[in-house]
Amino acid sequence: MATLESLRFNNAFRRLPPAFYTPMACSPLPDAKLLHINTSVARLLGLDASELERNDLAAILSGAQAWPGTEPLAMVYAGHQFGIYNPELGDGRGMLLGQVQTSSGLWDLHLKGSGRTPYSRMGDGRAVLRSSLREYLASQAMQGLGIPTSLALCLLGSQAPVQREQRETAAQILRVAPGHLRFGHFEHFFYRGEHEPLAQLADHALEHYLPKLLEQAHPYEALLHEVVVRTADLMAAWQSVGFAHGVMNTDNMALLGYTLDYGPYAFMDSYEPGLISNHSDEGGRYAFHRQASIALWNLNALAHAFSPLMKQQALIATLQAYEPRFLTSYQHRMQNKLGLQQTLPGDEVLIADLLQWMAQSSVDYNCFFRALCDFKDSSPWAYRDELIDPAGWERWSQRYLDRLKLESTDVDARQRQMQTCNPKFVLRNYLAQRAIEAAEQGDMRETDLLIKLLSSPFDEHPGHDDYAAPPPEWGRHLDISCSS
Ligand code: AMP
Ligand code: MG
Repeated sequence: MATLESLRFNNAFRRLPPAFYTPMACSPLPDAKLLHINTSVARLLGLDASELERNDLAAILSGAQAWPGTEPLAMVYAGHQFGIYNPELGDGRGMLLGQVQTSSGLWDLHLKGSGRTPYSRMGDGRAVLRSSLREYLASQAMQGLGIPTSLALCLLGSQAPVQREQRETAAQILRVAPGHLRFGHFEHFFYRGEHEPLAQLADHALEHYLPKLLEQAHPYEALLHEVVVRTADLMAAWQSVGFAHGVMNTDNMALLGYTLDYGPYAFMDSYEPGLISNHSDEGGRYAFHRQASIALWNLNALAHAFSPLMKQQALIATLQAYEPRFLTSYQHRMQNKLGLQQTLPGDEVLIADLLQWMAQSSVDYNCFFRALCDFKDSSPWAYRDELIDPAGWERWSQRYLDRLKLESTDVDARQRQMQTCNPKFVLRNYLAQRAIEAAEQGDMRETDLLIKLLSSPFDEHPGHDDYAAPPPEWGRHLDISCSS
């Protein structure tokens, strides 16, 4: 087991030429306190449990005290924001502290809220407690659901004031992720006509994260194909759990296909395909039901940036893999949610009709699927009493029962399987809001409990059914803005 200092830092990104970043020190948060630490992430890094008890832990993790082995830098990137190219992005309030090689892989340590950088533009380089805690919780929620995501080792808070719509206090999270390459990194070099660093970036991704692809005849094509496949799978995963990201700009898209940059996201309550989780997204560009096609739009932007590296024919062919992959991946996830082992003709329509009925009758998305695990034809189904359209349910459920009879799986085995893919606990916005309000008063118990529940969201956690319930009236449709 490692100490903070004995982690095997290789800082691979820092070995790239200076055009990729600005080396610089963090501006420590005054008097930063450790508000919460995620022990499962610490274990992933191979940190010894006693390291988490160190007196100087907050000082080191917040950037106030030197952390031997780290070589902090701010990355430069660009990106399409709401469809418009912005050439001037980069780590404006975060820094890559270093990269560590562990038995679980190569991990980036990125301190978010670490002060101004050359890419801060008009920003103050800080993050507020509210948004930092939302990211801290959401990372664990996604990880618990088995969906690729950045993680967070810890949450740090301080009394330092930060001005947003109102005065708030500053916070930091130490983000842990398998690389921070974004689609926007490639766009940065492409739009500047700098094709050599563009190739270096692709080589870097291949060498450090996807070395197997170097054995292929056309590694750049293989890389783009891998991004297409992973992104399609990620979209299928988001759609199947009812997650709306909110800001799918190309600078928030991870090359390695994991969820990155949690802002005004939502795990939906009642099923609402057109849900817009970002209060500032007036046109609904990033509405829930547009995510799969927006991801393809973003992949197009990435493919455009890859054009100096590949023949046009190959680019087109690679992008064409997206749609069938997404559809298959989504279908597979939804079938699992329904406890169907095989894919049979008619399944697609059965699922589409279910979703249509759910939308019309405002059924809570995750509660419904969890309750469906207990549905049998032989006994009354308790959840039926909560439906506002029981007649619509009777019509659909009869078709579902007929479909189930085409398979030989026994009821108990099916229920057990369904319970492993229909979560009982998701990070509803109102739960995050309650944890924020408590944390702002210095009370981290709510955060602590949520981290526990969300770490194993498929388990029953007796005594905590209220955390699995739809929101109370005040918690519906909370306005979550981009301001963070
Ligand atoms: P986001 O919307 O959080 O993905 O951020 C978009 C861009 O704005 C990125 O380049 C961020 O680094 C930058 N940014 C966001 N908030 C701040 C801030 N408070 N200070 C400096 N830069 C920021
Ligand atoms: Mg971002």
